[in-house]
Amino acid sequence: RVFNKRKINFFGGGGGFLFSLPHRHIERKAPMAKCNLSKGARIRPGNDIDNTLDLWSRSDVQTCMPWGAPVIWEGTFDARQYDEYYRKRNVTVGLTVFAVGKYLDVFLETFLITAEWYFMIGHNVIYYVFTDQPNKVPKVPLANKRLLRIIPVSRHQRWQDVSMLRMKSISEVIDIFVSREAQYLFCMDVDQFFEGRFGVETLSDSVAQMHSWFYHRFSIFYSYDRNPKSAAYMGLGEGDLYYHAAVFGGTWQKVKHIVDSCYQGIWTDKQNNVEALWHDESHLNKYFWLHKPSKVLSPEYCWDDVLGTQKDIFISRLSWAKKQYEVVREKTEKSWFSFFF
Ligand code: UDP
Ligand code: MN
Repeated sequence: RVFNKRKINFFGGGGGFLFSLPHRHIERKAPMAKCNLSKGARIRPGNDIDNTLDLWSRSDVQTCMPWGAPVIWEGTFDARQYDEYYRKRNVTVGLTVFAVGKYLDVFLETFLITAEWYFMIGHNVIYYVFTDQPNKVPKVPLANKRLLRIIPVSRHQRWQDVSMLRMKSISEVIDIFVSREAQYLFCMDVDQFFEGRFGVETLSDSVAQMHSWFYHRFSIFYSYDRNPKSAAYMGLGEGDLYYHAAVFGGTWQKVKHIVDSCYQGIWTDKQNNVEALWHDESHLNKYFWLHKPSKVLSPEYCWDDVLGTQKDIFISRLSWAKKQYEVVREKTEKSWFSFFF
């Protein structure tokens, strides 16, 4: 694998070459916090079905957050029971994905084909594909009860803007479509593929993704935005986990609040001529620190194979595609920022 060639930043992503170390040299892992709920305790806020979770079956990992939200790992849920619960309620789950510019050619087809194999199988699904090239969207055959809407968007020059302005487009599509036709909504990056069950065990009011590169790091290495001028600023000691913006979701009402709040922060930053370190992801991390997610997904739900085999990861459900920045990200500018990457 590409393992040895990949560099990981010792300070948690972002930064210069001098601080980069090969990943295999980082042996010292932060122990995960333990779930403090006593056996049989009820999950908060959680619904009936979340109270069937067995958070004590995995003593090797963190299975709940201090505010009572469960963390979903293989072994903690009964897939059959979850499917039955949501089948009875005839749930519909939306999934937004952006494929703007080269991202359409490189990633979209694989994302959709594999979503048909693993995403919410047996339930109603609506894909919302946002693109600047509607007629190039691949015609992936969809199973029964699944449909795809193409949402035309304009193309912004900078990839950072494409990424950040997703928040605004998602908000608009919630008003126009999602609020009328789905109860839950997931928002995902396109540069990934499904390779294991990603099912209704993930549904909750607001859902955040534990970032696979950070789940064993000490929190001082979390790459939150540390610039006090940015709306996404978080001080040392603040924050719960480092969340990954490649996957988030919840009820459409909650997702609307998430994307509107993040967009507000992004807009404020633009007015002040600042940009958060990891763009929309920094704002999302700030949001989930202020508004705790009601469910957290373990790194199984957005795994990077470059991290190799880990003894607490039994299954990879959604996996990062190989980054192809030289192909997909057009060189639009040279700034001090791009100098480092
Ligand atoms: N994206 C896109 N076109 C672009 C830039 C971004 O479609 O020119 C979308 C795409 O869905 C992508 C997401 O925005 O997965 C986030 O960007 P990227 O995956 O490059 O960020 P990374 O995961 O590398 O931080
Ligand atoms: Mn991505």
